[in-house]
Amino acid sequence: MKYYSTNGKAPLASLEKAVVRGLAEDRGLYMPERFKPLPREFYDNIQTMTFQEITCAVADSLFGEDVPADELHRIVEETLSFDCPVVPVTRSIGALELFHGPTLAFKDVGARFMARLLGYFTRHSGDGRTVHVLVATSGDTGSAVANGFLGVEGVRVHVLYPKGKVSPIQECQFTTLGQNITALEVDGCFDDCQALVKSAFMDAELGARLRLTSANSINVARLLPQSFYYFHGYAQMKRLGLAGQLVVCVPSGNFGNLCAALIAGRLGLPVKRYVAANNANEVFFDYLQTGIYSPRPSIPTLANAMDVGDPSNAERIFELYGRDWKALGAEISGSVCSDEQILSDIAFCRKQYGYLLDPHGACGFHAVYHRLGRGESALLCETAHPAKFKDTVEKATGEPVAIPTRLASFMQGTKQSVPMGRDYASFKEYLSSLQ
Ligand SMILES: *Cc1c(COP(=O)(O)O)cnc(C)c1O
Repeated sequence: MKYYSTNGKAPLASLEKAVVRGLAEDRGLYMPERFKPLPREFYDNIQTMTFQEITCAVADSLFGEDVPADELHRIVEETLSFDCPVVPVTRSIGALELFHGPTLAFKDVGARFMARLLGYFTRHSGDGRTVHVLVATSGDTGSAVANGFLGVEGVRVHVLYPKGKVSPIQECQFTTLGQNITALEVDGCFDDCQALVKSAFMDAELGARLRLTSANSINVARLLPQSFYYFHGYAQMKRLGLAGQLVVCVPSGNFGNLCAALIAGRLGLPVKRYVAANNANEVFFDYLQTGIYSPRPSIPTLANAMDVGDPSNAERIFELYGRDWKALGAEISGSVCSDEQILSDIAFCRKQYGYLLDPHGACGFHAVYHRLGRGESALLCETAHPAKFKDTVEKATGEPVAIPTRLASFMQGTKQSVPMGRDYASFKEYLSSLQ
C-alpha cells in the first residue's frame, strides 16, 4: 500500500518510509492511498470475536500488503495487552474506555503499535544501526511513547520535557523506566523542547550519522492503529443491542482519534454519524458552522489534552471528504463544552448514573446526552482515567478518587534524567555522544 501526502507535492511513500519519516517532504501528512473494506461476513460475526481477532483482521486490511501476516499478528498481540471495555452509562450511551493501557492513556495503543512496527522495519530492512526516537512532551505523549517503546530492540527513545512543568505522576512515567528510555529535563518550556527536537531533525550533519525519527501523533503508525478501538467498541455495542444506529462521539484535540474513527467507517464499520466533542477550543466547531477553518492560539481548559488551537489532523479529515464542507458536515457534527459544563456534567453523570467521567469524557458526554435522535445510541470514547485528573474530578463530585495501583506503582521507581539547557549546543553535544 502506498501513502500520499495531503499537500500533494511529495512522491508516494511505502509504509516503511511514511513511518520512519513521519512527515512527507512537502510537510504534508501521509494518508493511505485507498481503503479496503472488510467483507460482510466480518461485520455479521464481529460480536462473536475477541479484541485481538477483530484487530488482526483490521490490521491485515491496513498493513497486510507491507508486513507478513505472522509478524503483523505478533505486533497486534504484543500491542493489545489490555482490553477496552464498553461500560453502559445510560440506556443509549456506552462508554468505550480507552484508558486501560500501561499509562492509562488511549495513546498507548498507537505508541505500542508504532514501536513494534518500527522494531520490525529496523530488523528487516535497517542497516543494523540503532534508531533514535526523539519526542518532546508536555506530559502524556512522553509517557505513552516511552512506555510503548520500552524494551523494543534496536530503538532508543529520548524524551525531552520541560523542567517543573509536568505533573509528578507524568514525570515518573518516563523518568523511572531505564533500559532504552532516557529522559532529558530541559531548563525551559514545552516549546523549547519542541524547538530542540526540530533543530536536531534539521541538522544534516547529525542526520548523516544517526538514524533519527520522531514519534509524534501525526505518524501513520500511531494514527491508524487507533481505528482498532472502534471495531471492538462496535462489537460490544452490538452485543448490547445498541449498534443499529450508532453515533460515535470522540473528545478531540489534534483530531487523530476522530480521524481513526472515520477511517474505521471507510473500512465498512456501520456508523451512522460522528460527533467531534471539543472543550472551549472551538476551531473545528466553527469550521463546521461556517466552512472557514481559522486556526488560533489554544486556551487552557480543565480537559487540557484537548487544548489545541490548530489541530494537526484537520487536514487529514478534510482530505477524507475531498475538501467538501457539505459532505463532511453531513457525517460529522460538533460540540463545545465550557469548564463549568465539564464540572457539572461530571457531577450529574456520577449522581444520575453512577459513572465517573474524566474531564475529556465529560466533553463527549455533554455532546451527546441531550442530542441523540430516536433509535440512536452513542459509543462515547472515554479517553483518560478519572484518577489522572483527580483534582478536577474530586472538585466536581466532592468524593475522593482512588489512584489505580498501576498509576501508583510508577511513583515508586527512582527518577533518572539528564539535565539539559535549552540551547541547541548542549543538546547536540548529548546527541553526538550516541551511536
Ligand atoms: C490526546 C488526548 C485527547 C485528544 O485526542 P486527539 O487524537 O488529539 O484528538 C483527548 N483526551 C485525552 C485524555 C488525550 O490524552
